[in-house]
Parts: sequence; structure tokens; C-alpha cells
Amino acid sequence: MIGMSLLCDPALLIADEPTTALDVTVQAQIIDVLRTMRAESRMAIVLVSHDLGVVAGLADRILVMYAGRVVESASAALLLRHAEHPYTAALLKCVPSLLGPRLERMASIPGSPPAAAGIEVGCAFAPRCPRAQPRCQTERPLLRKASGPPHQVACHYPLSA
Ligand code: SF4
Repeated sequence: MIGMSLLCDPALLIADEPTTALDVTVQAQIIDVLRTMRAESRMAIVLVSHDLGVVAGLADRILVMYAGRVVESASAALLLRHAEHPYTAALLKCVPSLLGPRLERMASIPGSPPAAAGIEVGCAFAPRCPRAQPRCQTERPLLRKASGPPHQVACHYPLSA
């Protein structure tokens, strides 16, 4: 499917979970093909993935979404080093590392995402967020500029606050 879509020489490729369920060797090959095609044809890519390791290998800019909304947006380099949103930080902690200490269990985010019907009020991540305060239950955080270079975060209590 990826090969067929690239045959059309698109200006924009939307790759929705293109490496899910593939082993890491094939994942790396797919990402390499996409990176080469992007460089050779100046094709733009929107990569949709739950895997921040895959995203880190390809993206210039990352938008983190939770419950259908963008909760953080920044350049890949900035976001991967200085996440401001608790959900982004939790996702990054879940990426396995060969360099860190050996863990008995891999990290995970407790709880479950909200139902598709969505959250009417407050922050959708509040039931799972270790930084949640009463304000988070009643007031939806809007995407706004974070400190430093171009970086936006939708959180009442971002990590640098
Ligand atoms: S707004 Fe509150 S609950 Fe939501 S991510 Fe920020 S600190 Fe956590």
C-alpha cells in the first residue's frame, strides 16, 4: 500500500500508523524509504503514530493529541527534550531505553483514555494526570504559547511552571 501510494508521486503523504505491528527491522526500512522519498521528491509527510520512537526518526514537528485534541506542539528536537505537557512526558517515559537501568516492568500510563463521546468540561487527561488540580476538572485548558522557542501546550500546570 505504501509503495502504491508513492507511485503517484504525491506532494503530501498521510501515513497513518505505517509501521504498526511490524518488527523493528522492517519498521526501520519503511522509515528509511519515507525519509529518502521525502528528500528526493520534496514530499511532505503527515505521520500518525502512537510510537514516539518512530516519530523521532522522521518528524520535524510533532503535535501530541489526546482525546481528539492537540495538547502539545513543538519542533521534534524541542518536544523530545523539553516536553511541557504531562501526557507527553508520560509517553516519553514509556519509550524503552537500552541505556537506562533495567526495569522489572515497562512503564505505562495508568488508567484508560476517555470514551469517544469526549469530555464536556475540564481537561480530558485529568483522571490520569499526576499534576491534576481542582481547576483541571472544571476548566478545559486551551493551547497556548509555552515559555521559550515556538512551543504550544494545553495545560494549566505545564511541567516548567
Ligand atoms: S490541565 Fe491539569 S489535568 Fe490537564 S494535563 Fe495539565 S495539569 Fe494535568
